[in-house]
Amino acid sequence: MDNRRKIDLIAADKTTIWHPFTQMAEWAADDPSRPLIIAAGKGVYLYDADGKKYIDGVSSLWVTLHGHRKKKIDDAIKRQVGRISHSTFLGLTHEPAIRLAGELLALAPGNLRRVFYSDNGSTAVEIALKMAYQYWKQSVPGSKRNTFLSLENAYHGDTIGSVSVGGMDLFHAKFRSLLFKTCHVPSPYCYRCSARARRVGGSRAGGIPFQRHCRRLGCRGECLAAAEKILKGRRGEIAAAVVEPLVQGAAGMLTMPHGYLAAFEKLCRKHDVLLICDEVATGFGRTGKMFAVEHEGVKPDFLCLSKGITGGYLPLAATLTTEKVYRAFLGRHEEFKTFFHGHTYTANPLGCAAALANLRIFADEKVLKKLPRKIDHLTAELSTLLSLPHVGEIRQRGLMAGIELVKDAKTREPFAAQDKIGARVCAACRPRGLILRPLGNVVVVLPPLSITEREITTIVRILRTAIPEAVRG
Ligand SMILES: *Cc1c(COP(=O)(O)O)cnc(C)c1O
Repeated sequence: MDNRRKIDLIAADKTTIWHPFTQMAEWAADDPSRPLIIAAGKGVYLYDADGKKYIDGVSSLWVTLHGHRKKKIDDAIKRQVGRISHSTFLGLTHEPAIRLAGELLALAPGNLRRVFYSDNGSTAVEIALKMAYQYWKQSVPGSKRNTFLSLENAYHGDTIGSVSVGGMDLFHAKFRSLLFKTCHVPSPYCYRCSARARRVGGSRAGGIPFQRHCRRLGCRGECLAAAEKILKGRRGEIAAAVVEPLVQGAAGMLTMPHGYLAAFEKLCRKHDVLLICDEVATGFGRTGKMFAVEHEGVKPDFLCLSKGITGGYLPLAATLTTEKVYRAFLGRHEEFKTFFHGHTYTANPLGCAAALANLRIFADEKVLKKLPRKIDHLTAELSTLLSLPHVGEIRQRGLMAGIELVKDAKTREPFAAQDKIGARVCAACRPRGLILRPLGNVVVVLPPLSITEREITTIVRILRTAIPEAVRG
């Protein structure tokens, strides 16, 4: 692209567009040669308007699995375009959605029997919340279950319902008075434990069971105990508990100690509360298994899927649930037990065709089988960063990692917001050919599953220079 055209496009962006999660005053005031215009992608690489290539180190915000321009997905979409690109799912059906539902159910925990489609992660969660609420109304006459249990540091999307169960003050506190009431309990973020007054240790404990992990940190699992207290004390009020299994992504890749999720599920069962697992980020191989719940044999009542579902090509989402929940919505037309919810682009055929190709690639290319070596390699490489000053904690589950930078590694004092340390590290990676996007003071490394060990080494090598450079300022 010639330079004139590039500068014009950037100027037009700055006068017409409002970008997501972006301070537009800074955006507009930035150098006229920025932002980067992405013109193409191939494999794990992105190409800017000048043809310079970068590793896509965050999978285009956690969605790309097999790389860009993956032939099997490109072809599947083109074939579907040749038939039809969209028809409504209200009152009609189509083959790609039917086949995809069957395949998703075959992969998901066996108790899940029904698929409800939508088109993004927030709606996948919103649908689970509404279904859970309506389920109780219709299956237990006089039900007073009108609230949800969720975790601090949770992120479930940006719509008002999904924000209501969110637990990140930065994104959610402003809207509190608009939101429905939920019970927030501390999350197992051991590096900065909020369940106890004093900090109790790191969450780097890999592999050891939750109780033992707690004993080692000298805690009594107060975070889980807080959940139990609410579930017990507010019996009959809570419709469902919602959790991001294994990793609270948006809060900074907060990894849960092993066994926490299974223990959390057990509490839900004991106190007769539905369990919603939001696998929008962790689904589709991200944690090393197809779904994160598999690591602990957890069988949720709702499984929310989006992000990776189309291999990172098109917006699509699915909320899977059980036959028991589904049956509570059956009745005669005039009983109005219907689930009155649906988005215009629900089950878009192009999205479903891409998702089918995505799942085919998992099977044909033995994607999951190839992951353990890459995951171990990432662990080994990242561990070399621990010796850098200002690296507080490195958290990883599968090909999902966060490096928490701190002002002082001993006291764990965080960098101030105005230090923009995460953004500065990512900016320092840019000229070295790596695109990352941070979460506050946490540098996220979340490459496509198709990345090679050598490319993982490159990512970490770049970070080894970029982190000290950014800290120096
Ligand atoms: C990204 C994300 C969402 C929201 O998905 P959108 O498609 O951005 O609406 C919900 N839950 C989790 C865990 C996510 O990571």
